[in-house]
Amino acid sequence: MEMNIKNRVFFFAILTLSFVACTPVENADLVIKSGKIYTVDSGNSIVEAVAVKGERIMATGKTADISKLIGSDTEVIDLGEGAMYPGFIEGHAHFMGVGYNLLNLDLMPMESYEEIVEAVAERAADIPEGEWVLGRGWHQDKWVSTPEGMFRGFPTHDLLSEAVPNHPVWLGHASGHAGLANAKAMEIAGITESTDQPEGGEVFLGLDGKPTGIFNETAQRLVRGSIPQETEERAVQAAKLAIESCLANGLTGFQDAGSGSGTIKILEELAANDELKIRMYVMLRGDTSFLYERFAQGPIIDPENRLTIRAVKQAADGALGSRGAWLLEEYSDAPGKFGHNVTPVEIMDEVTMRAAEAGFQVCIHAIGDRGNRVVLDLFEKAINAYPEQTRDHRFRVEHAQHINVEDIPRFASLNVIPSMQAIHMASDRPWAIDRLGRERIVEGAYVWQTLLQQGSRIVNGTDAPVEPINPIPSLYASVSRKTLKGTPASGYEPEQKMTREQALRSYTIDAAYAAFEEDIKGSIEVGKLADFTVLDRDFMVIPENEILDINVNMTIVGGEVLYNRQ
Ligand SMILES: [Zn+2]
Repeated sequence: MEMNIKNRVFFFAILTLSFVACTPVENADLVIKSGKIYTVDSGNSIVEAVAVKGERIMATGKTADISKLIGSDTEVIDLGEGAMYPGFIEGHAHFMGVGYNLLNLDLMPMESYEEIVEAVAERAADIPEGEWVLGRGWHQDKWVSTPEGMFRGFPTHDLLSEAVPNHPVWLGHASGHAGLANAKAMEIAGITESTDQPEGGEVFLGLDGKPTGIFNETAQRLVRGSIPQETEERAVQAAKLAIESCLANGLTGFQDAGSGSGTIKILEELAANDELKIRMYVMLRGDTSFLYERFAQGPIIDPENRLTIRAVKQAADGALGSRGAWLLEEYSDAPGKFGHNVTPVEIMDEVTMRAAEAGFQVCIHAIGDRGNRVVLDLFEKAINAYPEQTRDHRFRVEHAQHINVEDIPRFASLNVIPSMQAIHMASDRPWAIDRLGRERIVEGAYVWQTLLQQGSRIVNGTDAPVEPINPIPSLYASVSRKTLKGTPASGYEPEQKMTREQALRSYTIDAAYAAFEEDIKGSIEVGKLADFTVLDRDFMVIPENEILDINVNMTIVGGEVLYNRQ
C-alpha cells in the first residue's frame, strides 16, 4: 500500500515535470509570495503565493511552485508577516460624500465642540469673508466633554458664531439628519425666530424663542439652499480624494449607495482617463424621470470592470436615531410615534416594478420593521409579476437593521440580500435599545447570524461618510458585537456575532455576489481579477482586542500596487 502511494506520487511528479518542460512557461507580471493568503474560495483554502498576469490571477499555490513563474521582469512582493485577502469591497457607502468630507472639514475625528470651532476658525482665516465654510461628521456622543449651553442634546451656535462672525458656516451631523449653522449662515438664509417650521423637520428654537443653530431633517434645506452649488471642478477633486481614501483603506471595490447623472458623468470621465483606480458599482438615485430614462437604456455592465450601473436605490424610511425608522409598533421611548415613510409606497412600487421589468437590481433603504416589511412586500410583488426578468434579481434591503421575526426568513426565501453595516451596530446599539426595547432588539435588530443561518448572504460596509470608510472597525464589530471602546465585555446579543470567516466573506465574496460580480471578484482564484488587500496582521487569527490596530499594508487593483504603506 505504501509503495503504491509512493509510486503514484512519483508518476504524477514525472507527469507534472514533463508538462512544465514541454510547455513554454509564461512569466508572471507580479508574484506575491511567502505569506498567508486567504483565497475565500469554496473550500476557504489558504495558499502561500499568487501569480498575476495582466490584471488577472494566473496561478495560486506554494511559494516554491509559484516562484517558477518569476522572470526578469516580474515584480515580486514578499508578504512576510502580512496576510493577504481578496480585495475588500465596500458594500454601501456614498462615494461623493466621502470625497466632500475630505475636501471640506472632516469633523468626524474631532473630540470636542471647542476643537471643531477652532478648526472652522482656522479654515475661515484662509478664505475671503463671506465665503462658506462647510464641514461634516460631528457627533456629540463622540465628544470627550460636553460643551456649555447644550440644548436638547445638541450644541448651540453661540460659540461658533463668536469665533467665526463673518463667514457663513454649515456643519453637517454625522448621521446626515441634522446640521449646525452659525449666525452669518442663518442671516444669509433669512432664518429668524418667526421662520415657519417646515414639514418633516424642525428649526430648533431655544428657551428665548431664537434659533439655536440646529436644523433637523428637512429643515436643513432652509440653510443648505443658500450654499452655492458645487462646481464641477470641486466635484472632480472630491472624487479623486475619495478614490485615494479607498485605496489607503484597503478597498478595491465600492458599491455607491445612490448617485445621479452629475456624479455618473464624473465617474465616466475618470474611467475614460484611466483615473478611476477602484472598481465602482453605482446604484442610480434621482427623480423618476431620470430613473426611467436610465431603465430604458438598460443596465451598463462595464467590460473593463471599472464602472457598472445596473442597480437603483430608493429609501423607505429614516433612521432610528431621529426616530425616523418606520416601525410596526410605537417607539419604546416615544409613545404614539411610529417613525415615517419617506418615499410614498406607490412611487417605490412603480420604480421597483419598472426596474424589475428592465432588469435592474432594486436596493431600498429600510431600517424599521415596518419599512422592512413594506419593502419585502414590494419585492415579492415585483418578483411574481416579472418571473422571467427577476430569476436572479438579488434585490437588496439597505441596512435591514430591525426586522420583525416573521419577516426574517423572507430574506432567504425571496433571495433578498440584507446589506448590513456592522459598524452601525457598534455605534448605535448602546442607545438603540431605548428606541426599541429589549424584546425587539433581541428578536430582530442586527440579526446577522440568524440571517446567515437561514441562508442569506450579508454584504457589509460602513455607510461612509456616516461612519469612516475604514473596513477594519466594521470587521471588528462584525465578530465582536462591541462598541469601538470594547464594550460590553461579551458583546451585544453575542449569539448574533459573525465568525471571522463570515465577516471576511461579507467584505469579499458575498459583497461581490451582492453586485453580481462573484465570477470575477471576491476570491483569489485563477482567472479572477487580481484585486488584493494586504494587512499587517492576520485578521483571521489575532486576538479580538487587537483587530482595531490592524493597518492596511498594501492595496492591489488589477495587479497594480496602488497603495503601499511603507
Ligand atoms: Zn447610506
